[in-house]
Amino acid sequence: MELVHLHTKETLRVRPDRIPAPTAINRFMRCASDRKYTLMDPRLVLAAVQAARKLQRSKVLIISSFRTSRLNAARRAEGHRVALRSRHIHGQALDIRVPGVSTQRLCAHFRSLRLGGVGCYIPLRFVHIDLGPVRTWDG
Ligand SMILES: [Zn+2]
Repeated sequence: MELVHLHTKETLRVRPDRIPAPTAINRFMRCASDRKYTLMDPRLVLAAVQAARKLQRSKVLIISSFRTSRLNAARRAEGHRVALRSRHIHGQALDIRVPGVSTQRLCAHFRSLRLGGVGCYIPLRFVHIDLGPVRTWDG
């Protein structure tokens, strides 16, 4: 199973049945613009990897992972629909795409898990997952 980061173009190979080493995850998920990193919640990574496996795919594309407050504020200023207190700032959210799986299908999968928040961004072709309260929205 492979995680591929859209911004850094890096690839992290992971086993679907085992959480990768935190140091590897944290570095891989570092902020795309500030090169800083944080402690990523490993349950998110595992949920993403297991979703791909359930949907019979072997790759997860990471659209956005950890964001510093600075990058988050910059995205807001650019007009992106980014929450002020985004869980991305705390390493508790991922925006992902599974190549070969429709955004609708991926959303339905995560919504059925009731793991936390699931934002379905069909026009942008990604799903936001976080470990906050269970809630869903369309972006
Ligand atoms: Zn997000």
